[in-house]
Formats: sequence, C-alpha cells, structure tokens
Amino acid sequence: MKDTFTHKGMRKKLVETLEKKGITNPAVLQAINTIPRHLFMDSGFIDHAYVDKAFPIAADQTISQPYTVARQTELLEVVKGSKILEIGTGSGYQTAVLLEIGAVVYSIERQNKLFKKAEIFFKKQKYTPKKLIFGDGYIGLETEAPFDGIVVTAGAPFVPKPLLAQLKIGGKLVIPVGEKSQIMTVFTRTSQTAFDKETFGEFRFVPLLENKN
Ligand code: SAH
Repeated sequence: MKDTFTHKGMRKKLVETLEKKGITNPAVLQAINTIPRHLFMDSGFIDHAYVDKAFPIAADQTISQPYTVARQTELLEVVKGSKILEIGTGSGYQTAVLLEIGAVVYSIERQNKLFKKAEIFFKKQKYTPKKLIFGDGYIGLETEAPFDGIVVTAGAPFVPKPLLAQLKIGGKLVIPVGEKSQIMTVFTRTSQTAFDKETFGEFRFVPLLENKN
C-alpha cells in the first residue's frame, strides 16, 4: 500500500479539521500531517482513513478517532525524548504519533492478534517503539518505570493505582475514566505522594479489559 498525493491532501484537510476543533500543539499537528493513517487500517476502510472518526480494526477493537489521538497526545505534553507508556497498542497509530514527536515509547496490548500485528508492522517502519509488550495494561510496566507520561487508549472503569505509581514527579497520566462513556482525566504527579487532577470532557472508548489474558 502506498502513500499518494491524494492521501497527503486528505491529511492536510484532516489537520485543518483538528485545528478547528481546538488542537494547537504544532508537533502534534505535524505528526498527524506526516503519518499515513490509512496504513493502520484494514483495506476495506481506507476511504475513511482521513475522516475524523474511529474505525473497526481486528479483534473487535477500534483505531481511535484522530481528534482523540491528537487531544491525548497534547494533554501528555510529549516532547522529544519523553519516556512514554501507552496502554492499548491496537493499530499502533497512537504509538506512531508519539514516535513521530520523538518520544521513547513502550506500548502494552492484551489482544495477542493485535500485539503480533503491531510487531510485524513496526519492523517495516522508520519508527520503532522501544518495546511492544503482550500483557495487561492495568499493572503498567514496573520494570521500565518511572515514565514522563502514561496514556491509556481504552475506557478505564477506575484509575489503576500502579499507573499513578509509575509516573515520575512532574509526569502525567492521561486516562479516559468511566464505563459507558468516559471523562478524559489528567493526573500530574506533584510529589512522591501527591497528584493534581484535571478533567477535559466526555469521550467514548472501547473498554479497558482486566485479567482476561
Ligand atoms: N491506541 C490504539 C487504540 C486501540 S483501542 C490505536 O490508536 O489504534 C484500545 C486498545 O486497548 C485495544 O486494542 C484493546 O485490545 C486494548 N486493551 C484493552 N484492555 C487492555 C488492557 N487491560 N491492557 C492492554 N491493552 C488493552
């Protein structure tokens, strides 16, 4: 599958849509403008790759809506060299956005099929995550902690304690919290024991599933 001028033109329009919806971080917009989102989708849906919508991928999961990916990345305050843990690799699109900005990315996926697919996919790309992990994101990644940022890309019924514990001081956890719909929530670790909490409106995600490996 190729990246054509038509695709590039569609991406530019998508970036304009995201700007209208309030995304301002230039590095985030640049990443969306650069990454061929159609390569992360099953071929039947390619015509929809540059519409601002979520779409089905394998294993009953979805590739997140571009606006959601942009917003979560913006809220993470990622810069070049940030050490980021992503929960829910899925299609790998959010992973690629983080890599394009220059983050060092660890990403966990609990569906084996998606994990395997992402592993093969990233071997062929110019960007490579530091580590792709097949496992349960509820427990985070203790062996590589602490992180500058942790982004959860599935709806969490509650905030998993290990994720808070694995943040550096000054680090951020960006997590959609809720069952049917979710409130985008950002926790900033202000000291060893204290966290600031802010909320950023309602979103809809597939659920973060527990203990089902
Ligand atoms: N970041 C992805 C979003 C995929 S949807 C993208 O840009 O495409 C959310 C993903 O979270 C799904 O792939 C789902 O399998 C995964 N997931 C759900 N519960 C999980 C858990 N406990 N640990 C790790 N991944 C999980």
